[in-house]
Amino acid sequence: MAEFLDQEIKFLPGVGPKKAELLDKELKIKTFRDLIYYFPFKYIDRTKFYRIAEIHSQMPYIQIKGKIRSLETAGEGNKQRLTARFSDDTGSIELVWFSAIKWQKEHLKINTEYIVFGKPSEFGGRISVVHPDMETEEEKQIKPSGLFQGYYITSEKLKKTFINSKTINKLQLTLGSLVKGKIPETLPKYLTGRLKLIPLEEALVTIHKPGNSRELKNATFRLKFEELFFIQLKILALKHHRENKNKGFRFPNVGYNFNTFYSRFLPFELTNAQKKVIREIRRDVNRNIQMNRLLQGDVGSGKTLVALMIMLIAIDNEFQCALMAPTEILAQQHFQTISRFLNGMKVEIALLTGSTKKSERKILHEALENNRIQILIGTHALIEDTVVFKNLGLVVIDEQHRFGVAQRAKLWQKSDIVPPHILVMTATPIPRTLAMTVYGDLDVSVIDELPPGRKPIQTMHFFENRRQQVNNFLWQQMEKGTQVYVVYPLISESEKMDLKNLEEGYRHITEAFPSVKVSMVHGKMKPAIKESTMQAFKNGETKILVATTVIEVGVDVPNASAMVIESAERFGLSQLHQLRGRVGRGAEQSYCILMSSYKIGPESRKRLETMVRTNDGFEIAEVDMKLRGPGDIEGTQQSGIGFDLKIANLGKDGEILQLARNVATEVLEKDPSLQTNENRIMLKTLKSEKQTEFDWSLIS
Ligand code: ADP
Ligand code: MG
Repeated sequence: MAEFLDQEIKFLPGVGPKKAELLDKELKIKTFRDLIYYFPFKYIDRTKFYRIAEIHSQMPYIQIKGKIRSLETAGEGNKQRLTARFSDDTGSIELVWFSAIKWQKEHLKINTEYIVFGKPSEFGGRISVVHPDMETEEEKQIKPSGLFQGYYITSEKLKKTFINSKTINKLQLTLGSLVKGKIPETLPKYLTGRLKLIPLEEALVTIHKPGNSRELKNATFRLKFEELFFIQLKILALKHHRENKNKGFRFPNVGYNFNTFYSRFLPFELTNAQKKVIREIRRDVNRNIQMNRLLQGDVGSGKTLVALMIMLIAIDNEFQCALMAPTEILAQQHFQTISRFLNGMKVEIALLTGSTKKSERKILHEALENNRIQILIGTHALIEDTVVFKNLGLVVIDEQHRFGVAQRAKLWQKSDIVPPHILVMTATPIPRTLAMTVYGDLDVSVIDELPPGRKPIQTMHFFENRRQQVNNFLWQQMEKGTQVYVVYPLISESEKMDLKNLEEGYRHITEAFPSVKVSMVHGKMKPAIKESTMQAFKNGETKILVATTVIEVGVDVPNASAMVIESAERFGLSQLHQLRGRVGRGAEQSYCILMSSYKIGPESRKRLETMVRTNDGFEIAEVDMKLRGPGDIEGTQQSGIGFDLKIANLGKDGEILQLARNVATEVLEKDPSLQTNENRIMLKTLKSEKQTEFDWSLIS
């Protein structure tokens, strides 16, 4: 049965086919439901009245009471305007109209009390309000509008066709008056009662015309909770389902390989955080349920080593492992690192990337199928269908944010009956609220401690006037025998322009450091050339590497002690943090120098200040999310859970989110498939979620 809210928007009084088409095209409002879920982005308190003497042009809006004393037209044709002198006991201002002048002149009444609402501006030393909202005291009485007036985002195109915020407000009021008794409740009584949630219908109507701040608060709370709760319920129900369905391999043995490595080859003591995480993962892989774990840890916290030790456990239990990295360079680096760590042990390791030759590939495939390779390291090439394992037990994915859910899912299928355990590693710390949502189906482990002896990177911010000192400083660094990165952002739309910026930068550097070997890399180079350039820097043959953000992820050159980031104001915060993580990997004190132009906006300033203040990736992630909003944080787009929050804000609503997750957990613990009479009501909302690719009938 179609519900009231599923009706097409054109059937709403005051809409009609033409408006309907525009609303659909510009705002994706197709139905009554879309409209009522189109929430105001801000409210203006219409209970507040100003006196004319208090008004100045910087106020965002004003509401005043008074009378029109005189009306006057001036100008000709297009330039014609109508001006009213409007006053109260404290002074007078001008009201101005540039259009519909004739109509206004006929309808505006002199010496009648009006409520005027609008944005003040200053014109020739006098305060005026252009195209104000005018209503008489009487009109105000009969209008059902709330005292907090909602403001809605519209588009330029809509405004041109007179569908502005006010029009939408009116449509909301019309719809609000029609829905009574027609919006079914989505949550069981025991929850609304316990959490003091107002009915859904009341919340949806009130959010568009709250009478006071308490009403607004109640409606907002109900709707935010609703939104976050059903996301959590969905994620957790899926997780539950997956864990029930996907039996996992058991790795009961901690045997020869793990023990030998630990006692004879591990070159240092594990940090407590690493030990804790290894324990967590060991528990996961020994309980017959497929592991899906996210391993978070700042750059340099030693995630790779943790992954290696878990792989050794898998091998001790006669399973094969795969380690997947987002780029060829990183895959190679992992291959080298792990080969070095395991040098002297009898573990077969192989590398498979896009540039592996066909003939080698064939040999590799065969070896894999015959179980002669125990660890396969590579890029996306690993998930091609031609790659077949004998018994894949564990997949480690490095740098999660570049892999989507779909790719992860493909990996599960690499093993016939039982999917392999999956360990996802990310060095892009994710704020807790976001992790709970985007990766809410994963269990999370955190390495929150760096190996001992690391010197925190010192970060500084300079303007161009300090260029000479910066260059002197780089000289000093290189005299100590260390190396330097100079990073340029992608600035313009066109690759050509970016390349030009980079090449210019390269020229400056070669001029400033004439006796030094400098090399340059960027994303548009042929992979082989890029590779050899990076390699030359890694080997210390070149001392300065001028680069774009291709060096962002994971490249490991411990001898690099300084990084200069040019036009740092143009980088995002998490990107700056990732870049900075390329230094500070060796024994030397390391430095990061942020160069910016003099003129930078408040957000850029905040980003640079944050970088200078802290090295803590989690703190940086929090700031980043507050500045940008969660939608832009890497990973959210690929999350595959239809991440389109209408009212909740992950940056601000952490507490409601936690509550929603707790309640969802509790509900599912008692009734995993929502079959009790009181819980069944929630299934309906879960199933109606548009973006789910998941077949809900599976769990019910
Ligand atoms: P991540 O992948 O988290 O960025 P890595 O695993 O690459 O970090 O580790 C960074 C560096 O620290 C590597 O050179 C690694 O060998 C080293 N390392 C890892 N764990 C420890 C430890 N417990 N003590 C000392 N050094 C460590
Ligand atoms: Mg790493």
